[in-house]
Amino acid sequence: MVDTSVSEPRSDDRFRIGCPYPGCENGRVERIDSAAYCVACGRPASVCTEPRKCSAVNQTLARYCRRCGGKIKTGEPSSAEGKLPKDPGKPQLIELADIIWEPPKPRAQFLWFLTGRGSFYRLALHARKPELVAELGEEFGRSALLLSTKLSTSGEASVPIALAASEDHLVAVNLATAEWQVVYARDGQDRLLADLKTGCHALAKDEIAWYVLAQVGVGMELVQVPRAKAQVANRIPLSADGNVAGPWFHKGRLFCCSAQGVHVLFDNNWQVFDWPREFRPFLTPQEARQSAGLHTAVGTMPCLVGSDAAYVLGTRSGRPSLVVISSLEPGFVCTPAALPLTRTGVVAQSSKESGAGSGAPLLHTKGAVVECGGSSYRALATEDELVADGLPGYVYGVTVGRVEPTAGDSIRFYSPSGEQADYRLAQLRDYAEGVGFLPLGSGIVHVYVTNQQEMRALVWQG
Ligand SMILES: [Zn+2]
Ligand SMILES: [Zn+2]
Repeated sequence: MVDTSVSEPRSDDRFRIGCPYPGCENGRVERIDSAAYCVACGRPASVCTEPRKCSAVNQTLARYCRRCGGKIKTGEPSSAEGKLPKDPGKPQLIELADIIWEPPKPRAQFLWFLTGRGSFYRLALHARKPELVAELGEEFGRSALLLSTKLSTSGEASVPIALAASEDHLVAVNLATAEWQVVYARDGQDRLLADLKTGCHALAKDEIAWYVLAQVGVGMELVQVPRAKAQVANRIPLSADGNVAGPWFHKGRLFCCSAQGVHVLFDNNWQVFDWPREFRPFLTPQEARQSAGLHTAVGTMPCLVGSDAAYVLGTRSGRPSLVVISSLEPGFVCTPAALPLTRTGVVAQSSKESGAGSGAPLLHTKGAVVECGGSSYRALATEDELVADGLPGYVYGVTVGRVEPTAGDSIRFYSPSGEQADYRLAQLRDYAEGVGFLPLGSGIVHVYVTNQQEMRALVWQG
């Protein structure tokens, strides 16, 4: 509903209901509860409530109110955690331009994603198509995508950015202005490992730096790029045979995985913690995909970092298996855990983004969606109609499973209180496989791949 209760001079309407994004001069912002969006361009807006309650609408990435100048509190609007989405009606089908190698990431009420051609986009809940933010170039098209902030020279956390890598460069894209700059360039010796098609190459961050693996001749290095300007990158050699997956952070420690074990960084030295006997980790997406019976969703790394433990998928004595990496100061402990898998299943990660999931692997087998918390397994949904090849999901504290009723494919939402609701997956004749369920503002987005290897999104506005 448009807020018309306050009568102010007309010029003020520009701030109260005028679209805050450049290039959308005649756009009008509509407010629904605490959320707001422009009916013309579909982009989200935040309402100034602190400290002066001036009620102007701003871009969701703005740091200061454009009317009163007050500092805007950042943070996502609170989601309907543990509640079923309101009857969302038919989902809107949105084409995502191109293949993507990693599921989109939510920030400031947009989903941000990088396509195989190296185009960086954002998608708003009420928009009809994704919005191009920056063309990084094809060499960045298979990179992992890390959302972070860049430190200003004074050391304050400031600019929200997305980080992406090519073999030669690490670049940071300013999410608010779309400007991008190189934050690390290779010196001719190394080659950054940033290809999600052939490897499980992640980008990691902590308070002071960003991290990426690099190949140097036959050796390997961890490159540490400071988040503050005017500091030089540090490089730490890593000795491992064959493929290395990572880097990731778990419990304040940086680690990578190789066939030998888990390599954990302590004061610039790597310590290796062995895998359980007979365990072979998946270190490339191909290994994970070709393993009998187990299928990982596109962009699901075989190493999942959760809030309590990290989980590595692989095989043990030839069968799909799981290892739980727990932190036990001063080191890590790798414990084998069986996967409750009788025939086939799909693994995804329970969403940490919405704050509702633990980040543990979610396994969808015939008849059940199970959260694999290591020693314990929690059945989030159990039902004969759940199909074994369905992508499991967990958004806003609600479990999502794909069901196959006689009428056709649909997905079923299970709330913790026992309620359930079915949403039809419209226009899915070309549906090949799911990529993920993502929270976005008050809605839910399901990203999937078509048989023609195109990416699509189904958006329920909620
Ligand atoms: Zn607009
Ligand atoms: Zn204000």
